[in-house]
Amino acid sequence: MTAAELKSMIRDGQEVTVDDVDVVTTATFGVMSGTMVVMMVPVAGKYSFEKADSIWLNGVPAQPGPCPNERLGVVDLVIYGTSYADDRYGGGHLFRDLVRGKEIDILVVSHGKSYENQVTIDDIECARIISTRLAFNNYYALINPASTTLSTIFSVTGLKGPFTEASVSGCGEINPLQNDPSHRTIGVGTRVLLNGAPGYIIGKGTRASPTKPNVSAFADMKKMDPAMMGGVKTSNGPECLTSLAVPIPVLDEEILSGLKVLDHNILLPVSDVNGRTVHTEVNYGHIWEGTDKVIRIEEGKCLKHPECRAMLMCPTEAISNYFVINKELCINCGTCTVQCPAGVFSATLGTIELAHAKVNYFTFRPPPFKFFIEFG
Ligand code: SF4
Repeated sequence: MTAAELKSMIRDGQEVTVDDVDVVTTATFGVMSGTMVVMMVPVAGKYSFEKADSIWLNGVPAQPGPCPNERLGVVDLVIYGTSYADDRYGGGHLFRDLVRGKEIDILVVSHGKSYENQVTIDDIECARIISTRLAFNNYYALINPASTTLSTIFSVTGLKGPFTEASVSGCGEINPLQNDPSHRTIGVGTRVLLNGAPGYIIGKGTRASPTKPNVSAFADMKKMDPAMMGGVKTSNGPECLTSLAVPIPVLDEEILSGLKVLDHNILLPVSDVNGRTVHTEVNYGHIWEGTDKVIRIEEGKCLKHPECRAMLMCPTEAISNYFVINKELCINCGTCTVQCPAGVFSATLGTIELAHAKVNYFTFRPPPFKFFIEFG
């Protein structure tokens, strides 16, 4: 079963026992800044340059090395999902373009001379995505107590204060770690899908703590699915979208009991975006229950304004021809619902109630994907 199928049975009051289900697939998808690629790219013939001093792929800067590849005409490199060429194109966009098989421009500078090449992923022998941290089991609803609008990776247009908007992260009850609270099945060597490609958990991720665990993982980029990854524009520069799916084998009652967690059981701290001071706690039930997961479109309301704000501000450039949404790119963030003055786009996104204010929130969440894990 997928986690969503299991939760729906539990919500309907159906009894589920260890005899009814062998494996539950859990997953999460969102902005995951700790994503990077390690790969080696061909640049020029042997002896053409000694070693790369600097390198860019589609204008996105990378770190040459650690292997110098002296006079071999190839460059080993590490490129961060958070590096960017400009405010619209960053590492996440580049990784998706590579996986889609698009041609990528490479520029190397060595001893003051430039070398260029165009490659596709087929020209690259080894390309691996490694994430330093993924899938925090419960993240934050972030608010801005100041009276200014704050540029942050957690908001597309800037987080309005004081206490006007919240940006919510986390997939709640379908998140892998949330479904295995004692980490009996998720650990070093667990087989996963990273951006749809078979991969493995390496261990705990950076900033993991007992109350907010996360994991680090890797997978072969050549087997990834572009629909499960990408780039997103935020008010503080481009960011990287990454997905992780983990199968949880139902070995006994304790594991099944962990899998029965529902959104309303999972606490969500409402925190100051500066420094993460917690103001209050709600739960994921407030976020996902009774709210829309996809955007409604009313084409008839469109005024066809030459500078369509929704098209301009959509963080994944998912909107074309004023109101056509590419469902593969849309992350249902809700930006278009407030940017379009004619009300072409709408969705019930929900409200978090603080002691002294009601806060409308935005999310980064994809449509309800199904992840399938192959065993073999
Ligand atoms: S919800 Fe609207 S603004 Fe957000 S990604 Fe989808 S189409 Fe773009």
